[in-house]
Amino acid sequence: MKPFAVIAKAGTTNTGSIDPLNEIADLCEKYNIWLHVDGAYGASILASSKYKSLLSGISRSDSITWDAHKWLMQTYSCSVVLAKENQQLRNCFSTHPEYLKDTETNEEHINYWDLALN
Ligand SMILES: *Cc1c(COP(=O)(O)O)cnc(C)c1O
Repeated sequence: MKPFAVIAKAGTTNTGSIDPLNEIADLCEKYNIWLHVDGAYGASILASSKYKSLLSGISRSDSITWDAHKWLMQTYSCSVVLAKENQQLRNCFSTHPEYLKDTETNEEHINYWDLALN
């Protein structure tokens, strides 16, 4: 069996520990493995000029989850998945049922409904 993805932690919920993101990214690049960073708890630290260096390497990931409902005190449903390539989100979430054909737009236009769960 060959691994196809690695999930690294950018801040665990109980202890706040952070995986060595650059070292993990080196391995993922070397073996062509998808790198997802679970930043649900800790990615908000990127807003801190003092501490954002703790997440050095996070920009090398293919995707990131981030919960604004934690440190940013937003409502519970305020969570996002970020992907390096817009098309990757379209591949996962885009649906085009017959009854919505009149709402379709061209590929140049960002239709947020194609990029997330609805
Ligand atoms: C909270 C949390 C999750 C789950 O996110 P929800 O949006 O609450 O479902 C996943 N990973 C970590 C590290 C978390 O702190």
